[in-house]
Amino acid sequence: MADQTEYIEVRPFTGEEIYLPIWEEGSVPLEVQLGCSWHRCKFCDFANDPRHVFSLQEVAAKAQMLAPYMQDRPRAFLLGENALMLPTNHLLEVLDIIEYYLPNVYQVSSYARFDDVIRKSMGELEELAGKGLCELHIGLESGCQEALDFMDKGIDLNEALQACERLRLLGIDYSFTMIAGLGGVELSDRHARESAAFLNAAQPKRIWITGLLLWPDTPLFQIAEAGGFAQLTFRQRLRETRDMVSGLDLRDCTFVDSTVLGDCTVQGHLPDQKDAILAAMDKLLEAEGPYDEVPPIPVKR
Ligand code: SF4
Repeated sequence: MADQTEYIEVRPFTGEEIYLPIWEEGSVPLEVQLGCSWHRCKFCDFANDPRHVFSLQEVAAKAQMLAPYMQDRPRAFLLGENALMLPTNHLLEVLDIIEYYLPNVYQVSSYARFDDVIRKSMGELEELAGKGLCELHIGLESGCQEALDFMDKGIDLNEALQACERLRLLGIDYSFTMIAGLGGVELSDRHARESAAFLNAAQPKRIWITGLLLWPDTPLFQIAEAGGFAQLTFRQRLRETRDMVSGLDLRDCTFVDSTVLGDCTVQGHLPDQKDAILAAMDKLLEAEGPYDEVPPIPVKR
């Protein structure tokens, strides 16, 4: 591959912070796009970020800048809200760039939406897998269709299962992020129960739970201000997640909840550590502190 970086000026990262899944902290973070192709979820403070696809020349320049510091890393993460939405030919060229500048990388992962997976043919996904794509991190958020629809998440859970089946057939792992409290008080029981049922059907490799925050300037914030959404307290959120975990029947899955009571993490492997996870959550449910309050309004990035 010819050096494509001669006349362009780029920075390795656009913003001051980069947003990696918790599992990808050791991966080479290669920025390929900005913004989300869906940008409609009512709770999401990323939804209004400008959208931009970096040219292959820019991606090559970024890879070249990172390479001297990250040569020993075996894995890369394609930074961007849903990098799998990029055309397959573009992604294949990005994978070529990684191979050229970071020859030790043999695994590549990215964020994706279920509909990104469905839009690609099996042949396209197979080509990407053949060049190193090994895991997709997908924002499921909830297995309750009503909660997803309320938030305008743009997920059809039947289609989501089809997407998982395609990935499973091709040997591409899929991991989910989920949001405790997404259904608010009204849908909390269903969020717990129906999320467990969906996860049991999908059998993801990893689950990362975060807690719902009401970011200012989001539609959900306005709805809550008008009384149309009641947020869970920290303790209710943990109770909900505990109920979900108790319903899980997963064969091989790493579980992390990084926002337990707003200040601690519970993690373990399922199914073998399920009882330990539940016991830790039961203990934390009894903790004293300001946990019967709703999470404070976060400061806008
Ligand atoms: S939650 Fe994900 S899919 Fe929804 S708008 Fe935000 S980045 Fe896009």
